[in-house]
Amino acid sequence: VSGSQLLFYIGISVSVVICGVLAAMGFRQRRRFGGLLFGLLLSWGGAWSLLSGLEIATTDFEIKVILAKLEYFPITTLPVLWFLFALNYSGVRSMKRIILVLLSLLIIPCITFFLVLTNEWHHLIWTTVSLIDMSGFSVLDCSYGRWFWVHTVYSYALLILATVYLLRAAYGLPMLYRRQASLLALAAVIPLIASWITVYLAQQGAVLDLTPFAFVLTGIFLWLSTKRFKLLAVMPTLVPLAQSEVLEIMNDGVIVLDQGARVLSVNPAAGTLLQKKSTEIAGQHVGELLGPAAVHHLTGETVSGQFQIELGDSGARRTYDVLVSPLELGWGRGRGNVLVLRDITEYKKFEARLEHQALHDYLTGLANRDLLLDRIQHAFSRRRHAQGTFYLLAFDIDDFKDVNNTLGHAEGDRLLRETVARIQHCCPAAATFARLDGDEFALFLEDIPDDETADQAVAQLLTTVQGSGTGSRDELQFTVSVGVAKTEGHMEPDELLRQADAAMHAAKEAGKNRVRRFDSDLDAFLRRRARLGVDLKQALVDSDLVAYYQPIVSLATAEIVGGEALVRWQHPELGLLMPNDFLDIAEEVNLMTSIDRAVLSAACRDAVQWPCAALGKRLFVSVNLSRAQLLNPELPRHVETALRDSGFDAPQLLLEVTENTLIGDHSIFIRRLADLQKQGVRIAIDDFGVHYASLRYLRSLPAQIVKLDRSFVTDLTVDDCSRHVTRVITELGVELGLEIIAEGIETAEQWRLLHELGCPLGQGYLFGRPQPLAEFMELLASYSGADGLRIPGKP
Ligand code: C2E
Ligand code: MG
Ligand code: MG
Repeated sequence: VSGSQLLFYIGISVSVVICGVLAAMGFRQRRRFGGLLFGLLLSWGGAWSLLSGLEIATTDFEIKVILAKLEYFPITTLPVLWFLFALNYSGVRSMKRIILVLLSLLIIPCITFFLVLTNEWHHLIWTTVSLIDMSGFSVLDCSYGRWFWVHTVYSYALLILATVYLLRAAYGLPMLYRRQASLLALAAVIPLIASWITVYLAQQGAVLDLTPFAFVLTGIFLWLSTKRFKLLAVMPTLVPLAQSEVLEIMNDGVIVLDQGARVLSVNPAAGTLLQKKSTEIAGQHVGELLGPAAVHHLTGETVSGQFQIELGDSGARRTYDVLVSPLELGWGRGRGNVLVLRDITEYKKFEARLEHQALHDYLTGLANRDLLLDRIQHAFSRRRHAQGTFYLLAFDIDDFKDVNNTLGHAEGDRLLRETVARIQHCCPAAATFARLDGDEFALFLEDIPDDETADQAVAQLLTTVQGSGTGSRDELQFTVSVGVAKTEGHMEPDELLRQADAAMHAAKEAGKNRVRRFDSDLDAFLRRRARLGVDLKQALVDSDLVAYYQPIVSLATAEIVGGEALVRWQHPELGLLMPNDFLDIAEEVNLMTSIDRAVLSAACRDAVQWPCAALGKRLFVSVNLSRAQLLNPELPRHVETALRDSGFDAPQLLLEVTENTLIGDHSIFIRRLADLQKQGVRIAIDDFGVHYASLRYLRSLPAQIVKLDRSFVTDLTVDDCSRHVTRVITELGVELGLEIIAEGIETAEQWRLLHELGCPLGQGYLFGRPQPLAEFMELLASYSGADGLRIPGKP
């Protein structure tokens, strides 16, 4: 066996095996027509290969001739199968038709095969057959008869047609299957090319027919092109079916227009959306159907894209989104457009609602802060064409929190809506009325000619608000605090709002139920506050905050028993500042706990130095605690550190908390105070009697001392009631084992009365003002104790 022979046998064996495997895979899917055909095609290819291999391998002439005749069975029928396979891909749906085609196509192969078997009698296939040697192989050499040529032309015709069909199917596949399509195309042309090459090579004296090998390759490519998509065989039919079905059931309208923008076809949804019968629509011009806006979008160079149109009467107006895509058949066979119509009315409404929600207050439906600022900005930019000034009123219903607390939030909301409705009713048309927060509102007035007009608007607002609140169970009388800011429009809207807001807060602080304009004074005040806030931080670093001490005396003897530490700020530029000047700012900028801590340390440190030896007893020092510091979890540690660092005795330290600090969750404060007591310090309730009906819970407070508020002391000499309250508190104190310190004693008369009422301790300008440490120490050193201070009018 020569090398080329070996190669030949290996080639034949490999192709037979591959054909067998592929055929088996085809038959496994024999329930699909494509699968069955594929199986048949590959077994035919395999049989052809096998027979031609055997034919060449045998040396016996008779057997060679028999094998060559048998070979004609696959040779004649394979083009028919191939053609059917291609036909199947090209979308012929009817099985009946395919079988009919098969039967008619098999006529010529059947005749051919019959003639092959009976060739001895008529020689229509071969005229002569002899054995020749060709490149080491002994092969049959035939000269062909007339029918051979009929059959050859027929087979080629089928092959060429099949190739065309397959190429068309490949070309028609969606872009999605581009890779599969190119493999399919390759598979389609391979048999044709192979048979031409064979014919060419045969003329050059080659023995081998390449066509069966070509079918192996074709099989592989076909398998590759179809394996990922089992549906490929049905795709040409199923996919268009699905597409037309989609058109029927989809909710979007699809309208096909011709080149003249006349309706060629519509799907059912288009009819439903436009509320017309499909028959009515067909043939209509798009302008009649969708209005001039649509025509506008459908003329011009490029018409692809998207636009929106509105159709219908004002009551039932609907919005449609229209998608346009141009249609074009090659070689000028036709042009048009396809429109996809979607009803987006509900979506538009939803969008509008969302937008409204984003810019309006949910409770009252008024504009919110964003919309207000936007309107102001717009008004400012329109400014050039208008005269006059803009006013922004910010107002807040006084004590509205109490309404919520007493009547409940539902009633609060109702009253708020009612008040808003009233104000809206008398608002100028061009005004923007907005809700900023809770019970805080703003009214933006445009193009007001003068201050009087603005004043009228404010007065109107005040009377309107005062009128509301009535009709409820408690006949409420609302009042408002109004802040007014004015501008010519040369300002950021934010800044205008800030000014009005600041003015409103000033009105509130000045006692509510009033109007405050933003002016240079308020501006200066706010700037000063802002500056103090910044400076305060530095003051803590620079130790500019110092403790002053006010003596606390026994009212029986005027003997000093302790001192209250009161903070002062030695401001480098503004001089000595009092707590009232900066404590609320400290609260705003969250420095209260730091200040309290600094004063606490200073007080303990200072009190250790107080010259007490001459007095024969130790004095206590009293330190004020803010609400923030009382709630500060670090407070016990601060106290401990201050005591440890100074060596001061805990029982001599008095911590004062004002009565109103305790408003709120009572249990927390009680726990806090009890914790402090455990550290050994004493607690005093400061400013007692003014803020809250705390007599009720005085019993439950872990305190040893009550400081009677200065207001009672001041009124003591003029007002029976104050005297009465003072007596009650003093007696209660005795009963509960509490010590009472009366605050703000300025006159000997007050002193005398308090002493008579049984109040044991007191402080006030009469006994000494708050003074720097050095002065306080001098005072302590200058008197000798038991006799007490020498005060004129001492009882
Ligand atoms: P307070 O604790 O009730 O202190 C008493 C206030 O009354 C002091 O005002 C004191 O100067 C003033 N006063 C005392 N005797 C008389 C008098 O006879 N007549 C009048 N008219 N006033 C008198 P001051 O020092 O301005 O402090 C005001 C408030 O600031 C204090 O009221 C206290 O609540 C708070 N405060 C002061 N220092 C601190 C501190 O270090 N921390 C905290 N958290 N608060 C402090
Ligand atoms: Mg105090
Ligand atoms: Mg006080």
